[in-house]
Amino acid sequence: IEKYPILEIKNLCVNYGGIQALKKINLVINNGEVVTLIGANGAGKSTTLRAISKIVNPRSGEIIYSGRNIIRRQPHEIVQLGIAHCPEGRRVLARQTVYDNLLLGAYIRSHQAEVKADIQRQFELFPRLAQRRNQLAGTLSGGEQQMLAIARSLMSKPKLLLLDEPSLGLAPAIVREIFTIIENLRATGVTILLVEQNANLALQIADRGYVLEAGSITLRGTASELITDERVKKAYLG
Ligand code: ATP
Repeated sequence: IEKYPILEIKNLCVNYGGIQALKKINLVINNGEVVTLIGANGAGKSTTLRAISKIVNPRSGEIIYSGRNIIRRQPHEIVQLGIAHCPEGRRVLARQTVYDNLLLGAYIRSHQAEVKADIQRQFELFPRLAQRRNQLAGTLSGGEQQMLAIARSLMSKPKLLLLDEPSLGLAPAIVREIFTIIENLRATGVTILLVEQNANLALQIADRGYVLEAGSITLRGTASELITDERVKKAYLG
């Protein structure tokens, strides 16, 4: 498949009140890639995802998606254009069933037969959810809630998935399961922007990565370049 940029971020600035969370960052994601953002707490990783999905309003810059600047679009328009955001902390609706959470993920879609077929597809991708389709989401384990959060994001049929800290607080076995799912997703053609505290893990599945420090991108490269970079090793790979 030919590579082309699906998303280009140019000179993006985001402020929270007086705090400059992103200071003119530039990055590119090509179709079919897994790109990871690495950085310490507070570096601006989540803010980058929030700016793309318009949960926060950028101060300046450009976000070019499939050739058009989407920086002033509304959040629901971003979803309609094919960008889904799976936020940190897996906010599933605790008092709704697994099935209803998935249904809600498809709120922008109107073709009910297709939506039902897609829920079945999620159950194939996430067999643990299939077994628990009528269980209340709040009673799922942390790992199962993370799976549900990802599956729900996929219900809007994204071309680009923004995935924030999928391994946070989960046991190693379940983290491996989730990363296998991410690799399977990539194989189906979904482009992924992955934010991870666990840089080691992220660089194992990513094609390329960017290092964010205090709101600026300080390093960029292929995953294999970054994994062997002494600065990355020292600061992020422990
Ligand atoms: P973490 O892994 O801890 O979430 P991060 O790299 O994702 O870190 P961000 O959450 O993007 O970092 O935060 C970047 C900076 O912006 C931090 O200094 C943070 O305190 C600040 N910040 C984030 N959200 C807000 C907010 N809603 N109001 C004020 N400041 C915020």
